[in-house]
Amino acid sequence: MSLLDRIGGLRTRIQKACEASGRDPAGVELLPVSKKQPLSLIREAASSGFIRFGENYVQEGADKAVAEPGLQFVLLGPLQRNKAKPALQHFAEIQSLDRPDLADRLRRLAEELDVVRPLWIQVDLWNEATKQGGCAGADLPALLAALGGDARLPLRGLMAIPPPGDAAAFTQMNLLREGLQQDLGQPLRLSMGMSGDLEAAIAAGSDQIRIGTAFFGDRATTSR
Ligand SMILES: *Cc1c(COP(=O)(O)O)cnc(C)c1O
Repeated sequence: MSLLDRIGGLRTRIQKACEASGRDPAGVELLPVSKKQPLSLIREAASSGFIRFGENYVQEGADKAVAEPGLQFVLLGPLQRNKAKPALQHFAEIQSLDRPDLADRLRRLAEELDVVRPLWIQVDLWNEATKQGGCAGADLPALLAALGGDARLPLRGLMAIPPPGDAAAFTQMNLLREGLQQDLGQPLRLSMGMSGDLEAAIAAGSDQIRIGTAFFGDRATTSR
């Protein structure tokens, strides 16, 4: 299947999921996740109008950002403190902020580098994705306090990887988002849903779905 075929198939899935829940497809952003995919495919996607791509690894994303200065990369994977500087230098947004010490470090570095980088907080309400990071619900207030409303690091929303097939978990995220919007008095976007569960995510109110394999094809066997 060609990239265009896969993108067409995804548009159809998004359209149907939106119809089923009475949502406007324009309100669901499709973020292609290009980790372990070659630049050639990213360029092909760019020629179809995509300019932002999700990446999991700082080094890989930084290399791609240097090779394609006209595109923007979003960091989705766990971020270590010692990679915070290259992450701020090469990524347009960071979606995996999940702990106060990282927020402190990003604030110091954003000032030093004189950059503005929208951040998303990665939430894990289920203690399942420990390997993939995520802030527990009880730790959110401390993380928000560490962020301190810093104008260089504006909070865009919440990102999550709910347990596969757990529709209630997606709904739980939307409720968390709505409560936090009230508390903070600002709109927050919700990034959840991947190749296998974008329908459940859209039904629960996700604003951004992050799609890897259903967009680019299999990662493991790609060696172009
Ligand atoms: C890999 C990845 C995705 C995309 O996963 P697919 O199942 O390939 O669509 C989305 N979000 C994060 C955080 C990822 O690591």
